[in-house]
Amino acid sequence: MKTIGLIGGLSWESSALYYNLINKKVNEILGGFHSAKCVLVSVDFAEIEKLQKIEDWDSQNKIMVQSAKQLENAGADLIVLCTNTMHISSDEIIKNTSVPFLHIANATAENIKEKGLKKIALLGTKFTMEKDFYKDILNDFGIETIIPNEKDRGFVHDIIYKELVQGIINNNSREVYKKVIQDLEKRGAEGVILGCTEIPLLIQQNDVDIPIFDTTKIHVESAVKIALKSK
Ligand code: GLU
Repeated sequence: MKTIGLIGGLSWESSALYYNLINKKVNEILGGFHSAKCVLVSVDFAEIEKLQKIEDWDSQNKIMVQSAKQLENAGADLIVLCTNTMHISSDEIIKNTSVPFLHIANATAENIKEKGLKKIALLGTKFTMEKDFYKDILNDFGIETIIPNEKDRGFVHDIIYKELVQGIINNNSREVYKKVIQDLEKRGAEGVILGCTEIPLLIQQNDVDIPIFDTTKIHVESAVKIALKSK
């Protein structure tokens, strides 16, 4: 079994989900007392959130590269960055480390392609929804992305930072997300990417009519597949 390196704390609410799901998946496959071999470097989200607000991506790149190097030095065989947004730093991480990097959008795009969907809605932080780093990968896989209108993007973003990353699960916010997704469905979305690793804490498949793509779960399943693949 390979050792999975996790960059967490983005936020720790979803890192806990990753740790839980990775161990469950390994045990489901190998049975018995098996659990995952992993190393975790967990950052202070307050530092990141501050830098995100002022869009200082250079400083965040440095923190992400430093975290990846810590994982490399600790013997990780692959790097899993437990967030969608900070994949903004993925090129820098890949350039500065020699450990394979498992990109969350690649894993998600492969999953969508397998299901044969062509037009997909993307929910996440405003950085993930509005910047090109995520949509470009989906586009490379022949998948068209649509995002909520500006007002709805504001709701989706604020609920992530004011509630989900702090472990607050609010029924009214679930209704807001459901309405946003219904609107995207009306605009032709065949499925919806839960492109923020905390959204699965709020939205599950039975909340919506179209297929959901839970990026946390997809990322975990790809990581475990690589970790257990024999050479
Ligand atoms: N975990 C979230 C994501 O998947 C948001 C937190 C962050 O800004 O990293 O994008």
